[in-house]
Parts: sequence; C-alpha cells; structure tokens
Amino acid sequence: MDMTTDTALAPLEFAVTRNPAAKTAAERAALLADPVFGTVFTDHMVQLTWTAGEGWHDAVVRPYGALSLEPAAAVLHYGQEIFEGIKAYRHADGSIHTFRPDQNGHRLQRSAHRLALPQLPVEHFIQSLRELIEVDGAWVPGGDDRSLYLRPFMFASEPFLGVRPANQVEFLVIASPVGAYFKGGAKPVSIWLSEDYARAGKGGTGAAKTGGNYAASLLPQAEAYEQGCDQVVFLDADGNVEELGGMNIVFVRKDGTLVTPDSDSILEGITRLSLLQLAKDRGHAVEQRPVTLAEWREGVASGDIVEAFACGTAAVVAPIGTLKGHDFTDAQPLGELALSLREELTDIQYGRREDKHGWLVRLDA
Ligand SMILES: *Cc1c(COP(=O)(O)O)cnc(C)c1O
Repeated sequence: MDMTTDTALAPLEFAVTRNPAAKTAAERAALLADPVFGTVFTDHMVQLTWTAGEGWHDAVVRPYGALSLEPAAAVLHYGQEIFEGIKAYRHADGSIHTFRPDQNGHRLQRSAHRLALPQLPVEHFIQSLRELIEVDGAWVPGGDDRSLYLRPFMFASEPFLGVRPANQVEFLVIASPVGAYFKGGAKPVSIWLSEDYARAGKGGTGAAKTGGNYAASLLPQAEAYEQGCDQVVFLDADGNVEELGGMNIVFVRKDGTLVTPDSDSILEGITRLSLLQLAKDRGHAVEQRPVTLAEWREGVASGDIVEAFACGTAAVVAPIGTLKGHDFTDAQPLGELALSLREELTDIQYGRREDKHGWLVRLDA
C-alpha cells in the first residue's frame, strides 16, 4: 500500500473566486437557526483536479454550485467514489477547531487505495479544510451540539466507459451547518437486524468509505423503517455483528469491558476509536474481536451485556434501545456509560474540557 508520509510537503496554491451571490449575514443567520442535516450548504467549495499526467492541480475555492460533468463520467457508471465526514466546532472564544483531521486524511488514503483512486497527501487534505473555513468560517454555528459538517469527497470524472481506474479525478470539499442530530437529547434507537441483506463481504469494499456501501444499505434501511425501526445492523456471512452501515457498534459488559467487532469489512470510525481511548483512560478494558449475534443476544439475556451503543461523527453516540429481527424483539438494557463518554468527547470537541490527547486542530488561524 502506498501511504505517503507527507513530510514537509509544499502547500497547494489555491485560486480563490468569491461568490458574488454569497448570503448576507441576516440570510445566513436564518439558515443557521435550525438546519436540517445535509440540506443547507455554505457559499463556497474547494475543488482539486487530478490527472494521470499532472497529478493534483487546479486547486480552487469557488462559489458552491452545480458541477459540469460529462454523461460518460466514469463515476456515474461504475461508482468509483469515496468520501469523508468531519466537523468544525466553534469554541466559546469564537475560534474554530476540527477533530483528528489526520485520521480522516489517512482514512481517505486507505479508501482511495481500495477504490483505485489517487492518493491525496494528508497535508493537502487538511489544507483544503482550512481554505474552506477561511472563506466560510462565519458558517460555523456557535452553541451546544451545533457544528459545520465538512464533506470531502473524490470521484472519477474522466469521460470513459471502459472499466479501469480513471485518469481524471476530482476532489471537493463542501460544507453544511448542522444542529443536534437528535432533537431533545440522545433517545435510544431501535435497530432492525438485516437477515436478508449484507452491506459488505469478505474482500469487498466494507472498510472503505465509498458510496456503493451506502447504496447497498438503502433497501435494508427501508425495511427497517417498515418494521418501525430507526437503523439497521448488518452481519457478516459467518453471523458476526458488523456495524450499522453508517455507525459502529460497541457493547458494554457487566465488568466494564467495552467490546467492539473486529472485521476487515467494517469502516473504522474515528468516533469509535476516540471513545474507546477515553474509556481506556478511565481504566476500562477494551476488546476488539469478532462478536456473534448469539453472543449479543445471550449476553443481554444473561445480564452480561449491560449496554450497547452506536457511534459516528454525525450522531456522536446513540444508545441502542431495541434489537428486532424477523422473529424476535429484544429490549436492550440502558446504562450510563454511553452518554457519559458522549459528554466527555463533545466537551473536548467544543473546548469545554482539556484536550489531553492533542486531538483538536485549529482551522481559523
Ligand atoms: C463514516 C462511517 C462510520 C463512522 O465513522 P466516524 O469516523 O466515526 O464518523 C461508520 N460506518 C460507516 C459505514 C461509515 O461510513
């Protein structure tokens, strides 16, 4: 695997074109009042182009708006696409920070490797976030549980219907202000067990953050809604618990041990990584290993599992209240740990608590 180490890389030169139709401060304030996740976008976006001949070039910040794409663009046919999700948080002193962007940058590189897309140096990934905040920093809302969700993504733009890795690729960053994911606090979610559909297979793309995994999850997610559930949990072919398709899953045992599935078809969440670190700091044991559905259900029945929660950047932590399958409904025990870890993590992200691990990176300076 070719992971660049990115030592002393020269920054990219960005050409900045201001949006002549940028929202006024009053319009922006109205949009920031109560944003629905993923529906409102800031005034600008970042775009870089890669070609096999020139590498990454044409770095621009330009008005947010429609792309011009040939109908033959490879991504529209074969789905050669990857993305990231990361937030910018406003602290009480007005400064703007993001959380572990090096982790997202390296994960984008791993996803790129799997989807045969070019590597974007991590330094350039982080620079792209800074460039966008430089022009759209006013869009980072203040206040608890509010943030600017940044969506970096990369796709094959080459107009070519042959099947091979594209020779022209775009990398963009767009941004969308978001409020609390759960209105009125983190209510326990109900989970539908997908017994008929998988999201990923052995040797597939499950560990890459790629749109195709989400496409495969939409039908089972629709099934979950029909069953009155909020989310889906997927199993692998051997009956091991994988994840929710957009959030990782963690179990808490009676003795305080946290257990989370290990598999090469799970997307390795940075929220999970960070929550597990905070739990270790508190003295909890952490195990990353395969977890069968039987272990989960029997653990709940016997009282060995005292809590289960889902986690990811968008929702942070969601306690699991119910697991439902075709022929069973298991109420899940609710504990204190999920919400207490959630509070500790968000306190760090919003600058309300000491950042002992050096996870925050300031974006506006
Ligand atoms: C993004 C994502 C997650 C959560 O990752 P975070 O880095 O914690 O946001 C979990 N599962 C899938 C499939 C994802 O795409």
